[in-house]
Amino acid sequence: MRHVNIPVFIPHLGCPNLCVFCNQKAISGKTDFDDRYITEYADKTISDALETIEPDAQTEIAFFGGSFTGIDRTLMISLLKTAKKYVLRGDVSSIRLSTRPDYISEDILGILAEYSVKYIELGIQSMSDRVLELTRRGHTAADTERACRLIKRYRFSLIGQMMTALPGSSPADEIETAEKIVELGADGARIYPTAVFARTELAEMTKRGEYNPPDSENIISRTADVLEVFLRAKVPVIKIGLHSGRDLYGSEGIISGTYDPSVGEQIMSRVMLNRIIHRLRGLETHEKILFLEVPTGFTSITSGKRKTNKTALCNGFGFRDVKISENPDLRPYTFNYTLS
Ligand code: SF4
Repeated sequence: MRHVNIPVFIPHLGCPNLCVFCNQKAISGKTDFDDRYITEYADKTISDALETIEPDAQTEIAFFGGSFTGIDRTLMISLLKTAKKYVLRGDVSSIRLSTRPDYISEDILGILAEYSVKYIELGIQSMSDRVLELTRRGHTAADTERACRLIKRYRFSLIGQMMTALPGSSPADEIETAEKIVELGADGARIYPTAVFARTELAEMTKRGEYNPPDSENIISRTADVLEVFLRAKVPVIKIGLHSGRDLYGSEGIISGTYDPSVGEQIMSRVMLNRIIHRLRGLETHEKILFLEVPTGFTSITSGKRKTNKTALCNGFGFRDVKISENPDLRPYTFNYTLS
């Protein structure tokens, strides 16, 4: 069954923080908001979207773009009531939302349970207190741990959102963060390589030389290692990289670094490359042809952007060629190989 999210963006509502990387307006593509009309806006967004979705799709309403559980309580309940109306009618199956670890309490979770919320996406970003401080997140790793345990205790599905290449963050910090998210029982994850948006403190830090956006090779390699942690733990990664909204490269968009909209696919490609290299290491391969069987939909991921993986395999192992075919029985990120 096809799964469809109806995103309802609530940029920066309820969030008194200003994390150094955050420019919610640019990320969500929504700029003008008037609190008085937000419930009407949500209602219209949902009903308009439903008209375009096939009735047999599994549909969810997703409140994204801010810290949902931090918004004014009356407004939050009004939004939840609006969304629940569609759940009760059978038009959508559930509600998901994103929020911060320090805006999770028993009281709030009780309200969310009452209004049919199923998924809570938690902006964890890092489990290093040093990185959290440098990025001015305004909460600690202990807050995240407490929030995750509470969310699981209330039987919500927990989606852990984390970032790579934040100021002060090392690849080892990022692997530890992923491992901690797994340990805390996440049912899914999103991974966002850091992008430098206009009108953010991170843009100023970059100008002052306090932050150097890593090059794409660095981003791809360290984020692939994070993805590998989730894959090994069988925690589904539902998104890698930012939603490529219209404003991502506009005047409010990314102004520095090498952020590429296809970064997610390049990271997946790197995981495949790493796994193939690991399996072939030590074999006699020179002048042979490598035949790879990969899961359905994995041909271009395995080949790599502009065939970079094929080239790396030919150069690294001396293959004459690499040929890829799909086998629907294979699970994602697995492969069979033969040499001839
Ligand atoms: S908590 Fe979220 S919405 Fe608030 S400033 Fe940080 S990233 Fe932006």
